[in-house]
Parts: sequence; C-alpha cells; structure tokens
Amino acid sequence: MEIKLVGLTKTFPGNPKKHIPETTAVDHLDFTVKDGELLGLLGPSGCGKSTTLYMLSGLKEPTSGQIFFGDREVTFLPPEKRGIGLVFQNYALYPHMTVYKNIEFPLTSLKVEENEKDFAFLKESALQRVLLQAKEVHILLAKAKKDGKSPLDCAEDLANAFSISLSLAKEIVPLFEEDLEDFLCKASSLLEESKKKQAEEKEALRQKGIELSEEGELLREGKTRSIRRNLSKDEIDALIREAAKLVQITEFLERKPSELSGGQQQRVAIARALVKKPKVLLLDEPLSNLDARLRIQTREEIRRIQQETGITTVFVTHDQEEAMSICDEILVMNQGKMVQLAAPQEIYRNPNSLFAAKFLGNPPINVFHGRIQDGAVYLGEEKILACKEKLPDQEVYVAIRPEGFLMGKEAKPKDKVLTLQCTQVLTQGRDLCLYCSHPSMEGDRLKLVVDSDLDATPGPISFALRRNKVFLFGKEDQKRILF
Ligand code: ATP
Repeated sequence: MEIKLVGLTKTFPGNPKKHIPETTAVDHLDFTVKDGELLGLLGPSGCGKSTTLYMLSGLKEPTSGQIFFGDREVTFLPPEKRGIGLVFQNYALYPHMTVYKNIEFPLTSLKVEENEKDFAFLKESALQRVLLQAKEVHILLAKAKKDGKSPLDCAEDLANAFSISLSLAKEIVPLFEEDLEDFLCKASSLLEESKKKQAEEKEALRQKGIELSEEGELLREGKTRSIRRNLSKDEIDALIREAAKLVQITEFLERKPSELSGGQQQRVAIARALVKKPKVLLLDEPLSNLDARLRIQTREEIRRIQQETGITTVFVTHDQEEAMSICDEILVMNQGKMVQLAAPQEIYRNPNSLFAAKFLGNPPINVFHGRIQDGAVYLGEEKILACKEKLPDQEVYVAIRPEGFLMGKEAKPKDKVLTLQCTQVLTQGRDLCLYCSHPSMEGDRLKLVVDSDLDATPGPISFALRRNKVFLFGKEDQKRILF
C-alpha cells in the first residue's frame, strides 16, 4: 500500500506561563512511500521523526495537511481503523501473559464500539474530529433528515462518513437541531463531560499497564486495538503461529516475556504488530534498546520480514548506519523539514546539502572552509581542483569523504594537491585510519581511510583527491554547488 503525505504539518501550542514557545515539529512534509518499500526517517533528536510517525499512525492529529494510504485519506482516522502495525522502542509486552497470549491480544481485544463507549478519551478524540468538521456534519445530517431518514439511518451515515462508532453517532444525532450554533454548543458540552470522566479512567488504565500521554491520548497497545473480526479459535491459533514463525519465535510461545532476551522480546512485539496482517508497518526506533550485536541481527531480521511480507514500512531512526543498511529509501529530516529523500547510496554519493552530507557516512565526511577563486577550488593556498562549471568567486564549504584521499604509490606526485598534518595512524585490518589536521578544517580533526598496504606515518602527507568524493556547499544556504 502506497503512503502519501501532502503538506503534513504539526504545531504544538506553546505555554507562555511556562515560557514554552510554540513548536512546529513537522513542517509541510510532502513525500510518497512506494508500495512494499521500507522508508527510513532519519535525523537528529527533535527533528520531528516520531511526530511524523505518530501522525501516520493516528496517535497524533496533524495541524494541517493530509495522509493517504493508497487512495484512501486517513488523516483523521483513529489508529484502529488504519490497518497499521506499530512497534515502539520499548516493546511494551504484557509481562503477565505468555508470548502466545501477547501475540493473540490484538486479535481478541475489544471492539472499537466497546472501546469508544467504555473509554471517554477515545470518545473525546472522535468528538473532537466531529467538532472540527462540524459544518460538514451539519450538512450531512440536514441532508439525511431532508431525505426522510430515520435517526438510526442518520447515525449510520454519520458513523460511516466520519469513521466514528455507531454508538457515538447515535449520541450526536439527537444533539443536532436546525441551527449550527446550537449543535456546536451541545456537542461541546458533551466533550466537556467526557473530559471530566477521563481523569478517573486514566488511573484505571494505568493500573492495567496501559499508558496514556499527557494529552490523554492512549499510547501503545490501547489505541492499536482493532475491530474484532470474529475469528474462530483455530483461525486465531493459525494466525499466531504464522506470525511467530515469521519472526522465528515459535519455540518461545509458552514463555513469559521476562524469560526472553531483548532481541527475542522485540521479535514478539513485531509478531504482535504483524498478526493482524497490517497494510502498513510503523517502527519507532525499534532497535534502540538492544546491544550492538543484537541490533545488527534484529535489523537484518526486520529487513527479511519486511521483504517476505512486502508490507510498506516506515522506520524511524537517528542511526545513519542502521538506515543505510536496511532502507530502500531514506528521508533525511532537519527541524521538521525534509532535507533529502533518495536511496541510501544516492544520498551518500550525491548529498544535496551539507546537512545530508554530514549525516550519512561513517567515519563522517571531512569539512573544510575553502573558496572558489578564478575557476578553481582552494583550501588555504593550495589549489585542489579545477572547476568544470563557470562559478563566481566565493567562500564555500569543501567536504571530502574519508575514502576520497589518495596517497603514496596510489597517486602521481603532480596530482598530490593537498597537504595534511597526520597526527595518528590506526590499523583497522583492511584499512588504515589516519587522523589528520589542516588549518582550514571544521571541527578538531579529520578522519581519513586509506588502504592498509600503504605506508603512513605521522607528519605531513600530500594527497591527491578523488573528484567524485569532493563536494562543495554554499556558505549561506549550505546547498550543494556542482563544480
Ligand atoms: P528523538 O529522536 O529525540 O525521539 P524526534 O525527531 O522523534 O526526536 P519529535 O519527538 O518528533 O522528534 O519532536 C519534534 C519536536 O517537537 C521537538 O522539538 C519536541 O520538543 C517537540 N514536541 C514533541 N512533542 C511535543 C508536545 N507534546 N508538546 C510540545 N512540543 C512537542
């Protein structure tokens, strides 16, 4: 299923009393995830990755913009109606249930109808959606009434059109009078009433191990509960075993989560997300609680499962290596905005900005303050490359990948255009890692990777440069300058 975001924006209101400014966490995101692809949302802490994922899941409502799953707009649909599987970094398994029961949970949990009736906060979020679209509700109900429909038929129309439960729709229909203001007023008091009930319910839920965010949104399991599909016991058993087999935890079905390793627990969480055969899988830093070895193993597992099932997947991470290794495409984000969206290698080979260049690659790209002068690129007094494009003289950032430096017998003496001061040489098996410095460098050292057959010792070293590993970026906008 293709996922499409159109101008998606989320602004959190500030609180002047507490000196909290308004924050635009996600700023006009436009992008498409192709059917069956794994997209990585990559960026530094606070850039808006999780907020984007929460809006895709329905746990947070956008301030503006739209979300489409295939042809269907889901912008204001509650999570349980989106056909998604969600996995969070903290796998939030039920400790008192076996693995089998944990995976079974989404299949046998409460119906939406019951949820909305039982939980004021779900009703509240549904009501808020209705209020936001009050005019449309009013028009719909006026038309239904004019058509001579019964109150029950009106309620059914309303429930279908606004994806709310029938029980809530039945409560709203009698509120509707001839005039819109009256309707809004009555709907608002219904909202107030449900807000009051919330506090009691929050506590009751917390005791059941279900977590609520500050705004009263139901996080983790609760909100991902789906409509019960009236499956038989055998059908449920078959689905559980299929999901368990996919993530290779069949042998642990009778254990409790505490009897599993972190990686195994995360696989249970993935099985639980997959058991309802979602069309979209959303993963929020699912590997961050695992140790280094398990991270690599589990990320490969996630890739295998994603490819086997062909589920369109969005994966949030701040780890560029993780994103590079498993994603079809990476969306690099900064301050709520999209910086670049492309295949990992494409971003690595062709970063469109200094930000994208710095974010991908390990060791990171080496950055210098340089200039274009008389059609050539200079670092200090050394002319390192000639420009093929006609460019005006200007200050620029010069960024060179660690593998962009050639030394010793790898390059002709006349091509050795840049002299660095080598301070340390580390042998890393196949490669040598050189720490170097240069008067124009950004940061406190440069990190180069060269072939371990070369003889490198601390002191000044002259390098030739691989042109396709050298990038220029504007001093002001930090955008790529092709030279
Ligand atoms: P991390 O990698 O640290 O999880 P992130 O990229 O996922 O970060 P978000 O959690 O999406 O970032 O947050 C984006 C911005 O929105 C941050 O500046 C954050 O402080 C702000 N923010 C998030 N939730 C709220 C909220 N409920 N109220 C106000 N501001 C918020």
